[in-house]
Order: sequence, then C-alpha cells, then structure tokens
Amino acid sequence: MKTAIICIDGLGKDLVTKENTPFLYKFGKENYFSELKTLFAFTEEYSFFSGQTPKQHGKWFEFEKTKKSIFGNIFVRFFSFNKKIRDYVGSLVQILKKRTWLARTYNIPSSKLKFFDSIIKEGLWNLDFLKDKKVAMYKWPFMISKNKENIKKKLILKYENDSERLNRLFSIKNKEIYYTQLMEIDKNLHKFGKKSEQAKKSLRKIDNLIKKYVDNFEKECGWNIIIWSDHGFADIHKYIDIEKILPKRKNYLYFIAGTTVHFWFKDKKTKEEILSQISRKKEIKILTKNLADKYKIPFSSNFGEVILYVEKGSYFFPNFYQKEENEKFLGMHGYPDDKELNGIFITNIEKFKKNKVNKSLKIEEVIKRI
Ligand SMILES: [Zn+2]
Repeated sequence: MKTAIICIDGLGKDLVTKENTPFLYKFGKENYFSELKTLFAFTEEYSFFSGQTPKQHGKWFEFEKTKKSIFGNIFVRFFSFNKKIRDYVGSLVQILKKRTWLARTYNIPSSKLKFFDSIIKEGLWNLDFLKDKKVAMYKWPFMISKNKENIKKKLILKYENDSERLNRLFSIKNKEIYYTQLMEIDKNLHKFGKKSEQAKKSLRKIDNLIKKYVDNFEKECGWNIIIWSDHGFADIHKYIDIEKILPKRKNYLYFIAGTTVHFWFKDKKTKEEILSQISRKKEIKILTKNLADKYKIPFSSNFGEVILYVEKGSYFFPNFYQKEENEKFLGMHGYPDDKELNGIFITNIEKFKKNKVNKSLKIEEVIKRI
C-alpha cells in the first residue's frame, strides 16, 4: 500500500466549495472530509508529522533568539544589499553546516541577523513517523528518496511550481509514503486576498492539478490518498506600523513578524515605556502564559520576553518578512483561535471513512489516527 500525502498550503476549509474546487469537494464527499483545526503557529507541518503541539515540540515561530546564529556569518550580512543573493548565500551556509531545513533571511535587518536563528534545522523525514519507512519527500530545495535509514538527497536549485513538484515527487518509484507541500495558494492569497480573481483562479488550477493525480492513483489502485491544508486565510483590514511607536533607543532587541512582535530588553524603563504605548492600541494584545497554554504554544524567552500579537484582520507592516510596498500582503494567517483559519483533511483511508461522525480533527492528532 502506498500513501500520497499532499499539503495545500493556505487552503482554508471555507474555500473548498462546489464552485471553487469542484473536484476536492466531490472527492471529500465521496470519501472522508473533515475540518482541520489549525494552530497559532507557523510550524503546522512539523506538528502534523510529529503528532505534537507547538508547546510539546517547542517550535512555534520560525526564528528564535540565540547567542550564535548561523546568519551572523559575515558573507550573509555582506550581501544584505540584495535580498535574493543574501538568501542564496544564507542557504549555502546552512547546507555547509549540514542543515536539511533551510530558512530564508527575508528582510531581517542586517544588524539583527546575528541574534536570530531558525528554529527548525532538520528535514521532516527524520521525524519518528517517517524514520523507518520508504519515503519520497519533496520539501524544496531538497528532494529526498529514502529506504529507512538510507537517505538520498538531491538539491533542486530552481524554484519549482506546484505542478513541477508533484511531477518530480511521483516520478520516484517504490516508496511507501510520498509527501510534498504545494505553495501557490498561500502565495497568491497573501498577495491578492482570498476574495480576489487571482484566488479563484489559483483554486481552480490546484483543483485540476490534484484531480489529475488522484485520477491516476485510483486507476492504479492501492493508494491511500491524504490531502490536507495547514491553515486558511483572513483578509487584512488594518495595517500597523509598530516601529513608529517604538522608542528610538538601541538598548533593546525586537523581531517584527506579520502577526506578532517579539521583544528582549536590557532595562525596565524601555520595557515599561513600550508596554504603556501598546496599552493605548486596542488591536494589539500581549501574550501571557495563560494564553500561550490555551493556544498550545511554548512560552519561553527565546521567543521574546514580551510578545505582542494581533487578532484576525490586523497585520504588522512593515515587518521583517515584508518591507517594500509591493510586498505588502492583503491576506494573512497566523492568528489565534479563529474558525476562518481552519484547514481541511480529506482522505480515502477506510478507517476514516467508516468513522464519518468525526467532522473536526486537530493537526497534531492526524498521524496517530493514520
Ligand atoms: Zn503563508
């Protein structure tokens, strides 16, 4: 029995309709379709394959504060005048250090690079669930083909689109588990928003692409098919330029992500000044230990001594990911506890089909049930 697992990044449950994605809608109806409760995190894939919440595996946000970051490398910082080149150099440095999960450096200011390192450093194929299996996994830029412990890694230099990813993945033969993540929906919904024409077009395109592969699997027989998505999307209606209200001193460190801001302080005065500024902005919230527990995320100082976040519809811009006006998002995810952000889980696996009552699953529960 072979299992094809395809993650469609950003395909919210509310987007899977008869009109938008006729094939997925029908395939879900005929087999098993469930809402997949997302996480207030950017490490959903990690939670899916590890079967753990971010609180359990300790990975929530993409970067953490560290004393010795791989991105503090002089060559990485030197190329800060060009984001693309800096990313290539950053990738090269990570590969030379034998990392198998590559992080980009986005728009992290050059002076701050040395303080932050990526939290995931190893490819998902090393996780327990995949360890003893024959796996083909395309997690760009790595194409992995492994028989249990024997791992063949191929580096794909060109960025490949969804259709190229599926094509490359399924050209590999004789594996038990096939996995890749498709990125186009996520990319376009960030850029154009979920109600845009471009969103509709991308949905149709992905639906057709998935249909092509699933039709083949069904003809071939003996395939378990899993199609899931890590999160959905919400349109942005409020942009917050947090740097405008931050003190212009240099005695504290911060990281601005799209829906969170993370602070580390050297003195109390600056901390209090920022907290008092924030208290006047009703759309900005402070992450407490209780909330972190509720959202199943780790509460640790390597993610910030003070962490701010926003709820659905707000977005910190500019931030360390998007800086230029042409990078500004219209759609976003990474908000706590909101149904609109939930993803999907579709499968033809009998175990799930028999148990049709379960209409809602959690990302971290799926692996145990497979
Ligand atoms: Zn995204």
